[in-house]
Parts: sequence; C-alpha cells; structure tokens
Amino acid sequence: MSRYAEFYRRSIETPEAFWAEQAELIDWKTPPRQILDTTRAPFVHWFAGGTTNLCHNAVDRHLATRGDQPALIAVSTETGTERSYSFKELHAEVQRVAASLKELGVGKGDRVLIYMPMIPEAAFTMLACARLGAIHCVVFGGFASASLASRIEDATPKVVVSADAGSRGGKVIAYKPLLDEAIRLSMHKPDAVLLFDRGLAPMDLSEGRDHLAAPLVEKHRDAQVPCTWLDATDISYTIYTSGTTGRPKGVQRDTGGYAVALAASMKHIFDGRAGETYFSTSDIGWVVGHSYIVYGPLIAGMATLMYEGLPTQGLDRQPDGGIWWQLVEKYKVTVMFSAPTAVRVLKKQDPALLKKYDLSSLRALFLAGEPLDEPTARWISEGLGVPIIDNYWQTESGWPILTVANGVETTRSKFGSPGVPMYGYKVKILHESTGEELTAPNEKGVVVIEGPTPPGFMQTVWRDDERFVDTYWKTVPGKLVYSTFDWGIRDEDGYYYILGRTDDVINVAGHRLGTREIEESISGHAKVAEVAVVGVADALKGQVAMAFVVPRDGAVLGDAQAALALEGEVMKQVADQLGALARPARVHFVGALPKTRSGKLLRRAIQAVCEGRDPGDLTTIEDPGALQQIRQTLSPQG
Ligand code: ATP
Ligand code: MG
Repeated sequence: MSRYAEFYRRSIETPEAFWAEQAELIDWKTPPRQILDTTRAPFVHWFAGGTTNLCHNAVDRHLATRGDQPALIAVSTETGTERSYSFKELHAEVQRVAASLKELGVGKGDRVLIYMPMIPEAAFTMLACARLGAIHCVVFGGFASASLASRIEDATPKVVVSADAGSRGGKVIAYKPLLDEAIRLSMHKPDAVLLFDRGLAPMDLSEGRDHLAAPLVEKHRDAQVPCTWLDATDISYTIYTSGTTGRPKGVQRDTGGYAVALAASMKHIFDGRAGETYFSTSDIGWVVGHSYIVYGPLIAGMATLMYEGLPTQGLDRQPDGGIWWQLVEKYKVTVMFSAPTAVRVLKKQDPALLKKYDLSSLRALFLAGEPLDEPTARWISEGLGVPIIDNYWQTESGWPILTVANGVETTRSKFGSPGVPMYGYKVKILHESTGEELTAPNEKGVVVIEGPTPPGFMQTVWRDDERFVDTYWKTVPGKLVYSTFDWGIRDEDGYYYILGRTDDVINVAGHRLGTREIEESISGHAKVAEVAVVGVADALKGQVAMAFVVPRDGAVLGDAQAALALEGEVMKQVADQLGALARPARVHFVGALPKTRSGKLLRRAIQAVCEGRDPGDLTTIEDPGALQQIRQTLSPQG
C-alpha cells in the first residue's frame, strides 16, 4: 500500500487516533477531552473540552521562535505600496485593533462584520476578532448595498469594520456610501462602525455611531490584549457561499477543528514550511482568503503575501502581466494559490512574461474554485515549469476535499482531475435518483461525503440547523450523506473528475451530460479563450446544449463569417470527441461571460436568459454587462 493510501486508511478507519495526532500540530491551552463526538449526527463535535485560540496559533506562538521574521507582506498595485510586518509587529497591530474593538463593546461571541479591501488592516481585524473570541463575518469588499444589507441582517453584528474605499484597476470604489445605504436597508443596526481611512474617498461620519480607526488604534498603541481561550467547538466565523447556484448559505465554522485542519493541510497538502512565503491571490471575502491568506500560512509560521490589485498591473500602476511572478521572485514564494479564472486572464497575455522572473523558489501552484480544464492546466504548467495542483473544495469544507497530498507522498496529478479524496473525507459517487453507490469506474453520479465530516468542515448553517440538515443531508432518499451538489466520476485509479453542478446536468434525449464535459472539449480549441455551456429547454429533445464562447481573437465578434466558421469547427470538435448528442445546438460568441465576484461562471443566469426567464438573484455578479451581451446575442434586434 502506498504511503498516502495508508495515511488515508487510518484517517477513515481510526479517525480519533488519526486526528488526535494531527491535533498536536497546534497549541492548546487545555488539551481536548474527546476527539470526536457524533452523537448528534450529522452534526459533529471535534476536540470537545479542548481550549485554544486561532490568533494565538497564528501569531503569538511564533513570537519566541520567529518574532522578527516576516509574517504579513502587503502589496498593493492599486496604491503602489508595499509593506512587511514581522510576527512581533503583527502581534502589536492585532492587539491595537483588538483593544479598539473592545472599547466599542466587542467581546466573546459578539459578531463583527468586516467589509474591507485587501489591506493589512483587514487581516489585523480578523485576527483581532479571533483574539477576543468574537465571531467575524467577512463580506467581500465592494458588494452592493443590498447584498451587504442582507448579510448585516443575518449576522446581526455589534460592530462593522470598514474602510473609506477599495480600488480596482485604478478605479476607486467608495465603500462608506455603500455601507451607509446597507445599514439603512437592514432591520438590524450595528452599535458602532469602525473606519480605516486610506485617504482615497471622503467619508461622512454619523455622529455617535462611526469611529475613525486611526485615533483609537493610536490610543491603544501599547495595548496588551490577552487571547480569550475558546472551546474547540466555539464559533470562529461565519461566511457566505459564493451564490453561484442560488441564495448564498451562511457557513458556520468552529475554532479547534478549523485550526487543526488548517495546520494539517499546510503540512500534508501544501507542504509549506515555517519561514517561507505563501502567496494566495484570492480575497479575504472568500473562504480561500480565510484559510490560505490569513489563518493557514500564519499557523504554519509562514509569511503570507496579501495582494490588492489586478494580475495585470505593476507597482508603478502601469500595465504589467508579470506582476505576480515578479512578487514570487522578490519574496521567494514557495507555495502559491490561485484560481483557474485568473490563469485564463493571464492566458490572454504574452507567455514570455511567465519566463521573465526567477521562479526557482516556487514548489507548486495550487488552483481551485472552478474546474481546471486540461488546456489551461497545460498552458500554465509548461509556462511556469512548476507542478500545477488542482484542488476541489467548497466554502462548506474550509480546506481541500480532493487533491493530492504531496506532503505525505509525492503523488501524480492528472490533468482534468483535482485528484483523490483527502484524509478524513469519505467521498462517494451515488446514483442521482436511486441513491445507490456507484463503484465501477467512470460511472456518472452525484459526489457526496459520508459523515462524520472531518475537522474544519462547516458546523451548521448559521442560526439554522434545520436548513443545514435539509439542504445538505437529505437529498438522497434513505441515506444521511452530505451532497456537494456536484456531478462527477471516479476513474480506475481512484481519481475524481468534477463534471459540473448537479443543477447543470443536461438531459439530451435521455442521455445525461455534464456541462463541464462539453466545456472541456470546446476549451481545447486553439481559438477559444473561455467558454460556458448551459442546457436549454427544447420541445423536441428535452434539452439542448448551448455554448457561449469568448474567442481569443476579439475580431471574431464583429465578423459574421469568421464566427460562422468557428462555430462549425467548435461543433465538429465536440461531436468528434463526445459524440453527436453532446454537440451544442448553437455556439454564440461574446466578449465576456457573466461571473460572480469570485470569478465563477453564473451558468444558472445564462440558462435563465436563454429560456427567457428572470435570472434571479444577481447581487453577487461581477459584470452585469456580460449578461446583457448574451441577451443581445440571442435576440440581435431586442
Ligand atoms: P453556492 O453554493 O452559493 O451556489 P458556490 O458553490 O459557487 O456557490 P463555493 O463554495 O465558493 O460556492 O464553491 C464551491 C464549488 O466550486 C464546488 O462545489 C464546485 O462546484 C466548484 N469547485 C471548486 N473547486 C473546484 C475544482 N478544483 N474543480 C471543479 N470544481 C470546483
Ligand atoms: Mg455551493
């Protein structure tokens, strides 16, 4: 048996012994009394009786051994600034913010909503909350007032922490007016708002409620705020899912299990070592930002590089598609984490930029968030000359479900597959209607997880245990299993392939096809930059596939003849590779695809437009213009 297979087997057969061992990777004030408690399944309690603190594990415990080493490196190509904080400095900054929050009445169990850009103060605030035992709820900076309002209402924060503005591609986005409007719309009103002023946009302060951070932080310059010891099962934070398939769900996470899961993943999956630098290009508004910008790298004693800006702009604020690689060279980044969407953006740049810098420090680039198609994986892998490691997870899981654990044993990655189940995850493929387990290779079904879910996994839906059980655990008749709502297969070597969302499965004349399979085939065409495939109701066939393609050469958009020729080529390619049934009924060419702010394709919205329905909740959409374009493509007159 391979080393990883043995490691995995132990995690499944003797989870208590396995996780008791992993629990030694973090500091405990009091060690856990009981490793695993499943008496209220599907709810799971990890490490009951243990007390610990995320901020202690991320910051304080490193002071004695690496206090002067860098902990947080903040780079903004929006403001042209670069700053590094050592663990000691980070410790001081976090305590200043913690003392300020305390002065505003924040204590254990209170909610603090964070609506901030990618500036170091955002990380200080998250860590300050963890230090006080307050529950943070980070909302992606720049979300519209309505989406922010619904989150304020759900989280009922005592304090909101924000800033004057964010910036994107040099364009300032004033946050304060958005926040004021959100608070006005919300039934719940916070007691106080703490505002960091970057000097980017003017702020109107509301007397008695709004407080500028600078004077408060200065007042608490030398503050000593001890960590509040929390029970392992106390809540650390809540965060919303991306809203790709519907109304976002409020994911609630514990403290001890999460700390252990992150520490273990840094060792076994990311293979990141203390003293090195980790660079995740995500945003603190997403789960990747929580786990692998803030907590994970710091718990491992690594410096984390926090980046504000586009991947295509330099520190001098001039266009520069090589900025990320320049930072890798400069800070000797060993582990990098990004998303397929970001790589597709880079794909439109000069590939020579990938070769311009010394990337010898980099051991691997991890990508997650969306299916990583083989052509994109190949392109970036060849361009950078480092292993590309796909990893599949969800806001709900907090850390990878499927990938390869190179920290345990060097394992082959297969392009197109995120990998194999990670330790602690009992992943199965079930027949979508009968619920029967599909054990033969390459049978398509729903990807599910059998309980008990491992440490770090969501505890419940915030304030709604019933929604947690009903939404996730009751989709398969007669079985209590967690549905990922993703559709996939497992090959003969045990590697999984995600074929799309269960909602996106197309039924063409009785045949089940994942949209992803068709997209993968289309994205292999040299003239295709990006593609989305949706199933559209059809009177004759039940459903037909409709493809929306962003061509690499924009000229195709204005050239009907070139478009027609490319449409033919794309259709032929799909028919050749997957069969005539999979061939899209139409291939439409557009300049951009509608995505969430986290860069995920909003297929449900495209599908709704194709079927002439209302696209529903679009508060998390990045660029409404892209959907408008699709509408126009479908009915050029209207
Ligand atoms: P919502 O649940 O609100 O509709 P969402 O599912 O997009 O939104 P996230 O938790 O951010 O919210 O995304 C998780 C989903 O992203 C997974 O269920 C899967 O569909 C997709 N995903 C993530 N990583 C990968 C990957 N490596 N390969 C394929 N799909 C992935
Ligand atoms: Mg989801």
